[in-house]
Amino acid sequence: MSSEESGHRSLKELKELEGTYAMPTYARFPVRFVKGDGALLWDADGHEYVDFFAGLGVHNAGHCHPAIVSAIQAQVSEFMGSSNLYYSEPGLDLVKRLSESSLGGRVFLANTGTEANECAIKLVRKHAHARGIDRPRIVSLDSGFHGRSMAPLTATPRLAREDLFGPLPRGFDSVARDDPSAFDGVVGADTAAVIIEPIQGEAGVYPIADEVLLAAREACDRSGALLIFDEVQTGMGRTGSLWAYQQTPVVPDVMTAAKALGGGLPVGACVISAQLGEGLSLGDHGSTFAGGPVQIAAAHAALDVLSDPELLDQVISNGEYLRARLSDLDAVTEVRGRGLMIGIKIDDQHDAMAVGRAALREGLVLNVPGERTLRLLPPLTIDRGTIDRGLSVLSSVLG
Ligand SMILES: *Cc1c(COP(=O)(O)O)cnc(C)c1O
Repeated sequence: MSSEESGHRSLKELKELEGTYAMPTYARFPVRFVKGDGALLWDADGHEYVDFFAGLGVHNAGHCHPAIVSAIQAQVSEFMGSSNLYYSEPGLDLVKRLSESSLGGRVFLANTGTEANECAIKLVRKHAHARGIDRPRIVSLDSGFHGRSMAPLTATPRLAREDLFGPLPRGFDSVARDDPSAFDGVVGADTAAVIIEPIQGEAGVYPIADEVLLAAREACDRSGALLIFDEVQTGMGRTGSLWAYQQTPVVPDVMTAAKALGGGLPVGACVISAQLGEGLSLGDHGSTFAGGPVQIAAAHAALDVLSDPELLDQVISNGEYLRARLSDLDAVTEVRGRGLMIGIKIDDQHDAMAVGRAALREGLVLNVPGERTLRLLPPLTIDRGTIDRGLSVLSSVLG
C-alpha cells in the first residue's frame, strides 16, 4: 500500500512542510511511523519494523499497551483536569507510589525530564541557602545529559554553548565520569549537589562505575551536599529494577524520573528522601499541566506493568541474552549497559549512521548517538523471537 492509498501525505510533502515551517532542530530519518503494537512499528506504506528504540526509551511497556490505552481512554472521556489549584486523586496516589517505590520522601510532579531536573536544581539550591551557602554550586559529569532548558543545559557541558545561549546560569562545575578522585577537588563547602545519571544515556550508554558513584556519595556526605540521580532514562524498569540506583551500592537524596514514567504521555517527577522534609514550600514551584489526570492515569498503568517482578526478571535475562548475542557479532568491539539499556561500539570498518540507516531500510529501528556507537532501548515487554528478528537484521547489516 502506498502512502496516498492509505490516506497519508507523502514523505516529500512532509519534508516540504518541515523545510518551510519547522525550526530545523532535528535530523530525522526518512520514515514516518503511523502504528505501533508492542515492539513492532509500521510506517505509512505498511512496512513492519522491529523497534529497538521505544521512542527514546519512552514506551517501556511496548507501543499501545492495552492497559495504558484503556486507562487513558477511560480518563480522557470523563475529565481532563482542572489545574493544581484543586485536589486530584490520581495525582496524589501517584506521588505516594513514587515515594514508596524509591526514596520515601516527598514528590513534585512535572511534565518532562528537563522539568524534573529543573525542580531538583531549585530544590538543592534552596537546601544550600538554608545551610548558609550564598552562591551554591552544582557538579555534574562532563559527558552527562540533563535536559535543554537553561539550568539542566548548563549541567550538560557538552551542549551548554556560552557563545550561542549565554549568559549561562552561574554555579555549575563538571568532572570526568571515570575518575573517583575527581570529586575531591571540586565538591566542597559551597557545593549544593552532585548530579549523575547512574548510566549515561545520551552519551551512548556508559554505566558509571560503582567506585565513582561511591566517591560522589562520600564527597556529598563529607561536604553536606546532596546527591541527585537523574533516572529519567534509567528508571521505570529499563535496567531490570524499577530504578537503576537499586542495583548500585548508592542511594541518592534526590531522584528525577520522566520518559517511560508517563506510559507514552509527558510525566516527570522529582522525588526526595524523607530526611529532606518538605523539599519545596508553598509558592516555590509549580506547573500548569503537571499532574493532569489523563497523563497520570497512563503513569499508573505504566507503573503497574513495569513494576511487575516477573517482567523485571525478564528484562535482566533478555538483556543478558541480547548483550551476549551482540558480543558475538564480529563488527561489535564493545557492549555496554544493564538490562535493556544497551550501547555498542562498532569497528572502524563501519559508520554508525550508515548502519542505522541500513537497519531502518531492513526493518529495524535503533539509535545512533555517536560515530561508532549504536544505542538499543527496546520495549521491556519484547519477546525472544522479536529480539532475534532485530538481531538478524543488525547482523546482516554489519556483515
Ligand atoms: C531525556 C533525558 C532528559 C530530558 O528529558 P525531556 O523529557 O526530554 O525533557 C534528562 N535527563 C536524561 C538522563 C534524559 O535521558
